[in-house]
Amino acid sequence: MPVCAGLHSGVSEQPPRSLHDLGFSEFADLLAAEGVIPHHAKVLWRALHRDGVLDLAGQEFLPPLKRWVAASVGPGKAFSLDAPAVVDEIRSTDGLTRKFLLRLNDGQVIETVLMGYDGRQTVCVSTQAGCAMGCVFCATGQMGFVRHLRAGEIVAQVLHARRVLKTIDPNKRLRNLVLMGMGEPLHNYDAVMQALEMISDVRGIGIGPSKIAISTVGVVPGILRLADEGRPFRLAVSLHGSTEEERAALVPASKRWSLALLMDACRKYGETTGKRIFFEWTLIAGKNDSPETAARLVELLRGIDAHVNLIPLNPTGGFVGTASQAGHGFQKILIAAGFPCTFRQRRGIDVAAGCGMLRAEKRVKSAQSQGSHEL
Ligand code: SF4
Repeated sequence: MPVCAGLHSGVSEQPPRSLHDLGFSEFADLLAAEGVIPHHAKVLWRALHRDGVLDLAGQEFLPPLKRWVAASVGPGKAFSLDAPAVVDEIRSTDGLTRKFLLRLNDGQVIETVLMGYDGRQTVCVSTQAGCAMGCVFCATGQMGFVRHLRAGEIVAQVLHARRVLKTIDPNKRLRNLVLMGMGEPLHNYDAVMQALEMISDVRGIGIGPSKIAISTVGVVPGILRLADEGRPFRLAVSLHGSTEEERAALVPASKRWSLALLMDACRKYGETTGKRIFFEWTLIAGKNDSPETAARLVELLRGIDAHVNLIPLNPTGGFVGTASQAGHGFQKILIAAGFPCTFRQRRGIDVAAGCGMLRAEKRVKSAQSQGSHEL
């Protein structure tokens, strides 16, 4: 019979393994190999994922578990935690959006956003440091790719948002998650899916899969994999162009996965899963906001259960956002063709995170000089 607190780990020569990287089953197996009994593994996993505890040593665990934690978790030991440090916090003027710059264990800085609109609490997380997709209107895209985030680093962002929300209003619950921060989620598929399994686990954070949205710029193999694997999450596809040329000018990744391939993948996804796809369209004056473009978009979407989200452009990269009249004209054409089409609130996710619209390095500088400031 295994007993808890077999102090097998002790000081380790290996880089520590983050406990936040481990889903419940893997966590239980690994701790069983360490001599931790299943009940104590469950208690520890819940403390980490449901209660968001970072100070494991300060918890009132039973003595065997306390001893295992003391011997195995911490600097120079076999296991570590993902506890990103807050470099900066930026609040919207209405106080409903908080954007955090978080420093990971290796010094990389990412952004996470907590939003509280329409009575819903939503967190927007990053999945990579930087991004390889290079969208021309996106500051993160101009940074280039640095590295993928581990599952634990994605989970840790949600746990951070939950802790903050608890301090704002303990009665509010974080119920929605969007993967629209820095990085392309489907370029980091395995870690993202591992993280989403943990985040949707009812023994932990427990955000329902239908309340989790994956936003992709059109990584075709990832969309097909989501369909094949029957993943229960929502899919949002950033389209931005109605012809190969129009899209390629804004989204360089479309040279690898053409618009034709992307729409085929979306059709297959819709047919396989029966799910609606949310198409994101950043309106850029003179680039993709004409009535002709809207009419072409209608043709592209024919046969797909699609909802179009129109996004007013954030001021970046010298592009100008579409005037409100032209935007509403664009919207009318889609609605007349039978597609639900809505504007995303500027003050919400697009202003706050919008695929990393502000450069992390700029924020670090601003953190050094100003501390907390407003959007
Ligand atoms: S918009 Fe999203 S996918 Fe495109 S470069 Fe920015 S972070 Fe990457």
